[in-house]
Amino acid sequence: MAAKIISGTEVAKAIREELKVEVAELTAKHGIVPGLVTILVGEDPASQSYVAAKNKSAHALGIHSEQVTLDVGTSEADLLALVNKYNNDPKINGILVQLPLPKHINEANVLYAIDPDKDVDGFHPVNVGKMVLGEQCFLPCTPHGILELLTRSGVETSGAEVVVVGRSNIVGKPIANLMLQKRPAGNATVTLCHTRTKDMAAHCRRADILIAAVGVPKMITADMVKEGVAVIDVGVNRIGMSASGKAILAGDVDFETVKEKASCITPVPGGVGPMTITMLMKNTVQAAKMAAKLI
Ligand code: NAP
Repeated sequence: MAAKIISGTEVAKAIREELKVEVAELTAKHGIVPGLVTILVGEDPASQSYVAAKNKSAHALGIHSEQVTLDVGTSEADLLALVNKYNNDPKINGILVQLPLPKHINEANVLYAIDPDKDVDGFHPVNVGKMVLGEQCFLPCTPHGILELLTRSGVETSGAEVVVVGRSNIVGKPIANLMLQKRPAGNATVTLCHTRTKDMAAHCRRADILIAAVGVPKMITADMVKEGVAVIDVGVNRIGMSASGKAILAGDVDFETVKEKASCITPVPGGVGPMTITMLMKNTVQAAKMAAKLI
């Protein structure tokens, strides 16, 4: 069976069109312009390009966006003061501190200082706790994007065997948790694998839906999946450089062989990646509506 390719690029585009309309309506009917600030410490090229993409996406949707770039030597105290300033700025509904931060800054101290009502990354313990309890909150962007990809591709999750490989706080743990909840795109039976899992291949072979968030290129091979599996590949791994100097990317799944057995599969690039920024925009619009008590 040749798999249907789930295009995150296309799904993200559709969601951005919906958001554009929503932002225009918020502005026209309520005078609300959602606002996002991105804070980058240092000059890491990958982080610079992520932040630039987030700001570009915000502008395109009519979201007010501010970008602050701080010197790599910025102290934790100065960064905390800046976060606090934006916590109190009514023009800003979402605060995103780009990770990783330089070693001398404690990431948790900074992330926990963000007002949970402006925590559009969904990393604050208040939002993580609400997510686990199934209450309204900001869902972390990559898992949120995976739920949208599954829903909009018509993948049935209720009763499905879901196997997640990778237990990070930003992808593996939250997506495993969301998919076992009594909610749309949930109600699955979830297994979470990691480096200490015995016979990971045996777990993967049981999966109706396999989600790989590992960071090891092409680790999931065709012999590790069953016929008809739906595959979501979160991994983004640089495996070389093209002649024109562009990074060659691979996912955690061996796309070419696994697609011959899967019913549907996300490519890398063009799968989960485009969804992550789009869900950040969705969370920012949600934050603006919450601030205006519209939800
Ligand atoms: P992470 O924090 O490095 O966590 C990796 C997880 O994979 C860990 O739980 C680790 O297990 C597990 N793991 C590593 N090697 C393994 C192996 N050989 N067998 C079984 N489990 C293994 O990674 P992450 O932040 O979740 O990111 C994972 C991948 O997704 C990366 O390629 C990253 O670039 C990509 N990513 C993409 C997006 C996007 O928007 N597309 C967003 C976030 C991440 P232990 O806990 O036991 O160490």
